[in-house]
Amino acid sequence: MSATRAFLKTKHEWPLAPATSAFLSSDVFGHVIEGEVVASASGETMALFDPATGLEFARCAAGGPEDVDRAVRSARQAFEDGRWRNLDPMEKERRLRRLSALLGQTRDLLSDLDVIDGGVVQAYSQFIVQFGIDAVDYFAGWPTKLTGHMPASPVDVVVQQVRTPIGVVCVISPWNGPSAAPAGVVPALAAGNCVILKPAEQTPLTAIVVAKLCLEAGIPPGVVNVVQGVGEVVGAALVAHPGVDAISFTGSGDTGRRIQAAAAPTLKRLSMELGGKSPQIIFDDADLEAAAATVAGAVWGHSGQVCTAGSRVLVQRGIHDELVATMVEQSKGIKIGSGFKRDTQMGPLISQEQLDRVSRYVGLGRAEGANVVLGGERHGTNGYFHQPTIFTGVDNRMTIAREEIFGPVMSVIPFDTEEEAIAIANDTEYGLAAGVWTRDLSRGHRASQALRAGTVWINTYQRVYASVPYGGVKQSGYGKSLGAASIDAFTELKSVWLKIR
Ligand code: ADP
Repeated sequence: MSATRAFLKTKHEWPLAPATSAFLSSDVFGHVIEGEVVASASGETMALFDPATGLEFARCAAGGPEDVDRAVRSARQAFEDGRWRNLDPMEKERRLRRLSALLGQTRDLLSDLDVIDGGVVQAYSQFIVQFGIDAVDYFAGWPTKLTGHMPASPVDVVVQQVRTPIGVVCVISPWNGPSAAPAGVVPALAAGNCVILKPAEQTPLTAIVVAKLCLEAGIPPGVVNVVQGVGEVVGAALVAHPGVDAISFTGSGDTGRRIQAAAAPTLKRLSMELGGKSPQIIFDDADLEAAAATVAGAVWGHSGQVCTAGSRVLVQRGIHDELVATMVEQSKGIKIGSGFKRDTQMGPLISQEQLDRVSRYVGLGRAEGANVVLGGERHGTNGYFHQPTIFTGVDNRMTIAREEIFGPVMSVIPFDTEEEAIAIANDTEYGLAAGVWTRDLSRGHRASQALRAGTVWINTYQRVYASVPYGGVKQSGYGKSLGAASIDAFTELKSVWLKIR
C-alpha cells in the first residue's frame, strides 16, 4: 500500500470523493510538460506533509533547472508556433468554457486536495474552488472581446493600436489557496499567452489536476505547463530564464522583492500580489451585530493565512468594550481541528515554521504590553494549530500592528475620531485592503477616498468577484488581477503604421 493510501485510511471522518482516492493512488506526483506528467530529470522528489498531523503523506517531483528549461522550451515553442494564440477566438472561448465545465465536475477532487495538502477547511476550500471556476467563466468570454483602437494620426497614414499577448507567462502561486490557480492562469490564456504554473512546494497537488483538465478541454499541450519544486530553485530559475517574458507572483513581500531584483537582468514584466496588514475600521454608528461576525471572520478565515486578513481592528472608543466582548463570545467556541473533520471551523497553519512564526508574534504582543483577551496559545500538541487570538490595548506602533503575521491574531486598536482612524489605518507600509463599518453614507465615502488601499469594503469584507480588479498599493504590490485589468496585464500594445499612397 502506498504511503498516501495508508495515511488516508486514518482519515475516517472525511469520505473522500472517488476521484480523490483514484488521484492519490499514484505515489509520486510530477510536473506537467508538453502535455505529459513527468518526473524530475534528476529523479528527485520532495515530501508532502499533512498540516493537521505533521506527517508525511506523499512525495512529489522536486524540479531543478533542467525541468524548468524543458518547461520553458515547451511553452516557448507552443507560443511561437501559434497553436493557441492563433486559434480562432470563438474556438478559444469554447475550450475555456469546456475547462470551466470540467473544473465544475472535478470540484470535489480539487476541494479534497486543498484539505489534504493545504490544511484548508471544507467550507473555505469549496469557496476557493468556486472562485477559480467563476474566474474561468468570466475570462472564457474575453477572446472575442479583445479589441484595438485607432489613435488620432496624420492623414497620410492609418495607425492601428492592437493588443498582443506577451508570450510565456510564469504564474508563481502561494500555498494559501491552491485551487484558485485557474484564476491566475486563465486570464493569461484568454489573452493568448502560454503559461508555466509554479505551485507552492507545500501545495502542489491541484496544479497537476488543473493542467490535465486544460488538456482535456482542448487547450493544446505545451500551452499550460507545471513545474514543481522549491521556490529558491525552481521559482528562481523561472525568474532568471530568458525564455520567460512575464512573472505573475502572489506571495510574501520578501520573496516579491527577491523576484523583482532577479528579474532585472532580463527586464521581465512583473505583477506582484504581496501581503497586507489591513485595517477594519468600526465606527460607533455601525450595525455592530453584522460587523462583529464579519470582522472576526476576516481574521479567522483560513486561520488568518489570507493576504487580505483584516488583522488590525480599529474600534471607536464608545463601542470598544461591547464589540470586543461580542467577538470574544462568538469566537471562543470555534471548533479547531483537521479539515478532514466535517465540523471543523478553523484548520491548522500550513507548517511548523508558520506556527513558530505566529507564536513568536504572540510573544512579542505580550512583551510589548498588549492584552490577550482570547486564545494566545498553540492548540493541541499534534499538527500546526493555533487558537484564535485577540489582543486589546494595541498601539499601532507595536510589532503585532506593523508586521504581517499570517495567523489567527487580531490586534484591536481604539480610536476617538474619524481623522484619527484614517491616520492609523494609513500608517502602515502595506496597502492591500481596508474595511469600514458605518451607517453614515458620507463617512463611508470619505473614508474610501482617504484610505490608501487597493480595495475598500464598506459594511462587508473580503468580497471578491471575477470582474472586479484586485491587488495592492505600497508594499502590498502592484499590478491588478481579475477583471479587464488582468487582460491589460497580460497583453502588450503594438502600434501598426500603414502609409497611404
Ligand atoms: P512563504 O514565505 O509564505 O512560503 P513565498 O512568498 O516564499 O511564501 O512563496 C510563494 C511562492 O513563491 C511559492 O510558490 C514559492 O515556491 C515561490 N518562491 C519562493 N522563493 C522564490 C524565489 N526566490 N524565486 C521565485 N519564486 C520563489
